[in-house]
Amino acid sequence: MASYSPAATDFSALPPAVHRASTIVFNDLKSFLARQTQFYDGYSYGQSGTPTYYELAHAIAELEGGGKAVLVPTGMAAIALVNATVLKAGDHVLLPAGAYGSSLEALHRLFGKWGVSHSLYPNDAGAGVESFIQANTRLLWLESPSSYFYELQDVPALTAAARARGLRVAMDNSWATPLGFKPLAHRVDYSVQSLTKYANGHSDLLMGSITTRDETLYQGLRDTAEHLGYCVSSDDCFLVLRGLATLGLRLERQAASGLAVAEWLAQHPAVEGVYHPALPSDHGHALWKAQHTLGNGLLSFTLKQDGLEPVERFANALKMFKIGPGWGGTHSLVAAYPPQDAATSTPISLDRWLIRLSIGLESASELLGDLAQALELATGLAHGPTR
Ligand SMILES: *Cc1c(COP(=O)(O)O)cnc(C)c1O
Repeated sequence: MASYSPAATDFSALPPAVHRASTIVFNDLKSFLARQTQFYDGYSYGQSGTPTYYELAHAIAELEGGGKAVLVPTGMAAIALVNATVLKAGDHVLLPAGAYGSSLEALHRLFGKWGVSHSLYPNDAGAGVESFIQANTRLLWLESPSSYFYELQDVPALTAAARARGLRVAMDNSWATPLGFKPLAHRVDYSVQSLTKYANGHSDLLMGSITTRDETLYQGLRDTAEHLGYCVSSDDCFLVLRGLATLGLRLERQAASGLAVAEWLAQHPAVEGVYHPALPSDHGHALWKAQHTLGNGLLSFTLKQDGLEPVERFANALKMFKIGPGWGGTHSLVAAYPPQDAATSTPISLDRWLIRLSIGLESASELLGDLAQALELATGLAHGPTR
């Protein structure tokens, strides 16, 4: 029987090919024995990358404005990989006070027991971060806007202060994606994204990326990822590539709807505070405008009424918004955070539950209608009609 070659050169299509592999096979033993020489950019074993993996890694690096990307199983894995690569026992790492909660938790509970210490600095420290740097500080994390309250950081001031003291700088840029902000253009060494959120954008997988322009730092990340056994599936890479094709369109739409919702909530008599940097009245608006080129559909707000009960009534009364963690997908979501959680991550003092909305791709006026009926039911206060 004539053997059939799947590497047909006369086939061409628009979508990327999905190559699944644990074992990668070699033409001769010499190439097999030399397989480690192509560990960083070629094919040696399924763990270190397939053509589908590299196609996504190149697309992410291009979006980030250059460099090389490493793909890992989750956004959290990306954060942990940077820490595991840069830090050793005796080192200290600085985190902004509004950092993603699990990021802080991992330093506290995992890296702490390996002899790595950490401390927080105020989100708005700017050049003043200098006074928080210790003799053994090796790494400065940035997250702007921050989790929960979307507080902005002065990125150029922070990176300049860190560089002056020889620190590495990593930034969790999941909120903005490189379409809204490009960390590598602002002297950040490691640009981290939770691709789970907007990049994939369809709430059906988890993945993370780290992009760097420095070849030595890239190889360090790849080495640590191998030691930890990190690997991502080619099927998931295919889905993220599909998601990237509509990322710009989705973000523009979600940013427009997010702003419309934020503006409407800010006028509502039952609402105390609204947190969304694209809102002109937001405390971080000026910095956001100066640094970012695109917003998104994430926003938080508090009710004037204390306690969990009105928040529960509100969330349960929503019809279009599903209740769940995560954000950045096509479906609108609602989540709530207790006052103490919210308060520890930010200098803003609050005694109210924080409600977070992730605005999806549904019609903004229908979403406003849903919010109006749920807020009225929960608080007895009405605001409408929705234009
Ligand atoms: C969700 C999130 C992460 C973690 O991403 P996963 O892919 O869910 O692990 C990291 N940083 C921020 C700011 C996030 O919101």
